[in-house]
Amino acid sequence: MKRNKQQFKLFSVLLIFLLLIVLGLNLFLVQTEPISISIIDDQLSQQGYSASEIQVIKDNLNVDQILELSTERYTKYAIESYLSPHFNELRDLGYSAQEAKDLSKLPIEILMMILKEDPNDQIIKLLHTDYFIISHLARYLQEIHRFPNEQLRTIVEKVNTDRDYDAYTHTLEVDFNQEFLLVNKYHSLLRSYVPPHLIQAKGCGKPTLIEEAVLAYNLMCEAITKEGIGLSQRSAYRSYSLQKSIYDNYLKYYSQAYTDTFAARAGFSEHQTGLAVDLSSTNKSFATFEETDAYTWLKENAYKYGFIIRYPQGKEDITGYKFEPWHYRYVGINIAKTITELGITLDEYWLWIQE
Ligand SMILES: [Zn+2]
Repeated sequence: MKRNKQQFKLFSVLLIFLLLIVLGLNLFLVQTEPISISIIDDQLSQQGYSASEIQVIKDNLNVDQILELSTERYTKYAIESYLSPHFNELRDLGYSAQEAKDLSKLPIEILMMILKEDPNDQIIKLLHTDYFIISHLARYLQEIHRFPNEQLRTIVEKVNTDRDYDAYTHTLEVDFNQEFLLVNKYHSLLRSYVPPHLIQAKGCGKPTLIEEAVLAYNLMCEAITKEGIGLSQRSAYRSYSLQKSIYDNYLKYYSQAYTDTFAARAGFSEHQTGLAVDLSSTNKSFATFEETDAYTWLKENAYKYGFIIRYPQGKEDITGYKFEPWHYRYVGINIAKTITELGITLDEYWLWIQE
């Protein structure tokens, strides 16, 4: 019994002793922590980091990373390299620090694709291609794979205008906040959309368009008439339901694939915007419009009134439509001038202003 008591006493003393050691150690650690941090501050500052950079380092990096960094000389991208797990691998692949920084933000699966295989430095070249958008990278690479001989610039333009998707498969509603309305096989109008202020022009076939387009049309009509050239029109504003009946009627005679090359599906027609007009000559048939004086004059002058040829020759892949010498679209004088001078389509112009 006595022996047990003694053992208990000894055990208690040991326990208290142990507790004191643990407590002391804790106190020691709490006290020493600020000291070690201030040493790191000094080391980082000796390596060339500014106070604000040191703060960033302490806020974002773990202890091991901080210690490692404090032993290296200052470099501008050192902090980022620690924050981006693949920064150094990308640098080794030949990407500039800025590129590596941008690429590090990509979803991990795309990044792994880059790290594993960058065929012929395609990604580096893509990064330097005009209009490159990093979030489209996977789609660019897919297009390169499908069309290995295509120019990168063409690939970028194609993807940026969604043309890597089949027409009518990835459609968005028309963006009314843009400086002009883009309606094509990828941007559609609602069934209920009717443009505001539709009025009829004074002459040259008196097309019905929105007021601003009609005022421009009246001036253009005056000018061409002065030249002694006759101008008329076949069709201007068309409602959703009218477009539907026109398109459906073609389907009675032609395949859908063929019909899509010359007629818009309902909701995808520029005619629903009240900004497009199919012109004709007063003395020649619609089909031969390209051979008329009216066409020759319009080719030279339409842009001065804010109208463009919307589906030009040689741009079928971009617009998705056969050449239509008769279809004019009002975009305003400034845009019409730019588009005509550069020889681009409205779809390409839209791409330019996305930057
Ligand atoms: Zn048309």
